Amino acid sequence: GLHTENLTKRFGDLVAVEDVSLTVEAGELLCLLGPSGCGKSTTLRMLAGLETPTEGEVYINDTEVTDQPPYKQDSSMVFQEWALFPHKSVIENVAFGLKMQGMDKKARREKAREMLEVMEMGEFGDASPTDLSGGQQQRVALARSLATESPVLLLDEPLSNLDKRLKEQMQIEIKEIHSQFQRTTIHVTHDQDEAFTIGDKIGIMNDGRLVQVGPPREVYNNPKNKFVEEFLGETN
Ligand code: ATP
Ligand code: MG
Repeated sequence: GLHTENLTKRFGDLVAVEDVSLTVEAGELLCLLGPSGCGKSTTLRMLAGLETPTEGEVYINDTEVTDQPPYKQDSSMVFQEWALFPHKSVIENVAFGLKMQGMDKKARREKAREMLEVMEMGEFGDASPTDLSGGQQQRVALARSLATESPVLLLDEPLSNLDKRLKEQMQIEIKEIHSQFQRTTIHVTHDQDEAFTIGDKIGIMNDGRLVQVGPPREVYNNPKNKFVEEFLGETN
């Protein structure tokens, strides 16, 4: 699993993340939910080693990884903007992370093919990402993350650019893939329907702080404070 101790990030005078101690059990899918600007992405970026915490520590499987470069961190991140390399083919994109892990070329291509199949993108291996729809590109990005076999998957609003129908379909798929691979996952969203659909647990952030963490039903039935109650009361 993954845990943080008193994770804090300041940008000058601005406290983006404040004293976040979070535990995600191995194999669990936690949805990090909260309004725009509450610190979700900054938290995820610190977990990924893309941002140095001002204070606090990050542990993956009980090993401290705070501030380790991403490829040493055993985590793999998918962004809202899919960040596929436009000049590499789909399969080269998926295989890319494996190169960083030191896998040889043949094994990389086999693994990449396998993961594209899982995402039902097997027939697009030789295509250019620029010829794919948004949803297809996102499947490729997910395949790339899954292929790395890193024990922690970090997803930052991976579905926010998709239309409603595709979004609902991908929510179901993320859930299915999660049951299949049992990867410890943190999925950031500001869409509460999405969080309650896919999360084993929900973590609610406000103003840099982690306000409440628990199973969806518990959070929904017993909001810890006025903020959570009102936030969950809003429709999005
Ligand atoms: P959203 O839902 O809009 O993506 P978020 O919850 O992901 O929001 P963050 O992106 O983590 O929020 O930002 C938290 C706060 O930190 C915001 O006030 C933001 O402006 C600020 N912030 C984030 N990154 C930086 C940076 N590199 N430099 C300065 N301020 C930053
Ligand atoms: Mg964000």
